[in-house]
Amino acid sequence: MKRSRLQWLTYFVMGYMLLAFFWWSVLLFTKNRDAYMAKIELQQLGMAAEGVIQTPMDFYASERYQTLMANYRRQERMIMGETVFLSLSLLVGIYIIYSGYRREVKASALQRNFLLSITHELKSPIASIRLALETLQKRGDALQPEQRSRLTMSSITESDRLNRLVEDLLLSARLESAYQFHQSPLDLGELVEKIIQEQTRLHPDASITCDKDPATPPVLADRQAMTSVVLNLIENAIKYAQGTPIVRVSVRQQGDKVALVVADQGIGIPAGERQLVFEKFYRIGSEDTRKTKGTGLGLFIVKEIIARHNGRILLSANQPQGSVFTVELPAVP
Ligand code: ADP
Repeated sequence: MKRSRLQWLTYFVMGYMLLAFFWWSVLLFTKNRDAYMAKIELQQLGMAAEGVIQTPMDFYASERYQTLMANYRRQERMIMGETVFLSLSLLVGIYIIYSGYRREVKASALQRNFLLSITHELKSPIASIRLALETLQKRGDALQPEQRSRLTMSSITESDRLNRLVEDLLLSARLESAYQFHQSPLDLGELVEKIIQEQTRLHPDASITCDKDPATPPVLADRQAMTSVVLNLIENAIKYAQGTPIVRVSVRQQGDKVALVVADQGIGIPAGERQLVFEKFYRIGSEDTRKTKGTGLGLFIVKEIIARHNGRILLSANQPQGSVFTVELPAVP
């Protein structure tokens, strides 16, 4: 991330304040010592004039000197304590302000990315549907039946995409409220097979295989929500592929759980971003340079749905490359 001028200014002010504290403490120590030396000298002269002491050794052995010394030490400890306390308070304050500032910057970058991507995601299907309809209207009679069918099919696909996007937006808003799922026993393997058939039809170049253990018990889940989970994971595996998408999906029992694994050989997710990709609107890279379509809502929705089904989702790296998403849900006994 490029450091902004404001950030450098913040670093400068923080550094300056810490240095100022340090400088004031040194100054206080010096003044305290000077005052102590002056007092000793005065006391010594006074005692010599009174005739109480004969030599400097007498003075250092006297009670007055011991009292002066004790006072001096106490003040030194006070200065030291204050310095440590103030520096720590300053550091804690700086940390709180700085992490708040970082949070704000991150939130506004995510918001900006989201607005850019949502604008693109909404506008591009509308534009291509409009273009197809205009072509059909102007040149419909002159077109071959296959050309007409291609235009119609692309409009249907684009309107499906638009529909998915609106559903994702609604679902993510619902997930943040107290939305109730309608859970019933669900055969996850059968659902996965159906989705794979559909995705293979839409992406004939992709190789999507399913390894399903027929003995896998059902899970207690909302069918529509689980469709969204499986679809999001498989679509991402296709979208973030390198060359021909190769996706391996498996559904099997693991102890008292059912595990759904979606493994791809795509571009992969750096270790430092494996937690972040589940955050709302988070997308790797910047919207200005990214080529893939998306809103950063998919994995957020997946994680929330899985959490509401008392399950968990894990993300690891695939070998030699790609990502592995593992969803674990409690099996119906
Ligand atoms: P979207 O795909 O709409 O951007 P998601 O929430 O589904 O949003 O994913 C968030 C980000 O995680 C994506 O932008 C992408 O950078 C990364 N990502 C998700 N799935 C994969 C995957 N299978 N391979 C590589 N990167 C992925």
